Amino acid sequence: MTNQNLVELKNVTKESVESAVDLLKEYLSFPTISAQNSAIPETVQFVVKMIEEAGGEAQTLDDLSGNPVVYGYFPAGSNGDSSKTLLFYNHYDVQPPEPLDEWNSEPFEATIRDGKLFARGVADNKGDLVARLTAIKILQKTQGGLPCNIKFLIEGEEEIGSPNLEPYLQKYRDLFKADACIWEFGGKDEQDRISMVAGIKGMAYLELTCVGADIDMHSSVGAYVDNAAWRLVQALATMKNQQNEILVEGFYDGMEPPTEAVMEAVHALPFNEEAVTNLYGLRRPLITKAKDQDPREAMVLQPTMTICGLVSGYTGEGSKTVLPKNAKAKVDCRLVPGQDPDHILECVQRHLEKNGFHDIQVTSLNGQKAYRSDFSHPFISHVMESAQEVYGKEGILAPNSAGTGPMYIFGEQLQLPIVSTGVGWVGSKAHAPNESIRLQDFENGIVHMAYMLLGFPAALESSQENVEASK
Ligand SMILES: [Zn+2]
Repeated sequence: MTNQNLVELKNVTKESVESAVDLLKEYLSFPTISAQNSAIPETVQFVVKMIEEAGGEAQTLDDLSGNPVVYGYFPAGSNGDSSKTLLFYNHYDVQPPEPLDEWNSEPFEATIRDGKLFARGVADNKGDLVARLTAIKILQKTQGGLPCNIKFLIEGEEEIGSPNLEPYLQKYRDLFKADACIWEFGGKDEQDRISMVAGIKGMAYLELTCVGADIDMHSSVGAYVDNAAWRLVQALATMKNQQNEILVEGFYDGMEPPTEAVMEAVHALPFNEEAVTNLYGLRRPLITKAKDQDPREAMVLQPTMTICGLVSGYTGEGSKTVLPKNAKAKVDCRLVPGQDPDHILECVQRHLEKNGFHDIQVTSLNGQKAYRSDFSHPFISHVMESAQEVYGKEGILAPNSAGTGPMYIFGEQLQLPIVSTGVGWVGSKAHAPNESIRLQDFENGIVHMAYMLLGFPAALESSQENVEASK
């Protein structure tokens, strides 16, 4: 990779960006809401058409249950390295646009205002797919072919939790085989630095229910009748102490210790306590303070246990003297690599049993394992370094995000390093009204993908040399 390459890619991207935005606008006009089973076949057809028009081969995989998965393939050019393959993961579905009255323009009529493109799905994640396809077109134009093979996996159920992705990955493991993967999304942080992740936290989402009686009662019977709400809060109180240590035996089982490279990356992450406190209007000091813990370590390396909601009895205006018949809590645990959501469920059930709360029922609503790429893999540093060259600014790369997604099944089935990066920004409002990307970020994101691909084979070569040398 040379500086001249970068200058040329930037120039050609500038010329191509207008038609790329037009294509993106068309793609955004499909109301592909997976939760409502809306516009799936026509969107799939459009995605296939975009791949073919960019010079690739497309295949619609629909022989398993759920919405089709689109496979795209672009072979390396004659002067490229056909032994190296990069996989892009994207999804063509979007979140429902509601509440509609909070949109300043129609969610499925992409509109440009103040250098931003507004539409449902533009940041999450239709803009990224068009940026990636545009990068491919630009490389074909400027380099006379692609530097490596490129594959796409574009699914249509990400926004409903990818319930059918694993069987597809299992069945088509050979088809999707690659050396490395670029994940669906990402963007700029509040200081305009490109912010990327090389992994993702997992999730064990639990529902705790306590049923004390068939009907709500007059609260005077509290003299002799046990109370479901008290039972539930007492049970919850045994699970975490005031120092915020999780007391469920076995909860921390299996946690993989971070490598030195991971620790270094964690300590390089930005964290501004004052900004966080102001952003949320926090009334209490951060819980990491009491434990004298670095909040960045907590964010990336430690699991959480969060009460997401509690419901019981009367919570309306004024007083109502009632003894509730039942109580319910939703609890989410963000997991780190090595933890198992099924094991977490068993541990919580055993913990409640052991503490005398056999009347509290625990069910799992969602379980996903965490994934963290091998942080010493040269692909990781290549994505980071190419980003810094393109954006001319320091980037941020977290070993894993604090959020969750279906990354683990990719890692497990395909055994490859994964980095997530994209064309969003801190004000993108994914999942909310007035979702947007900035056109300048879209253009820079195209350049980054093209430039990253250009140096991809050499970056992997250096990894093999390292392996050889260490033998
Ligand atoms: Zn989303």
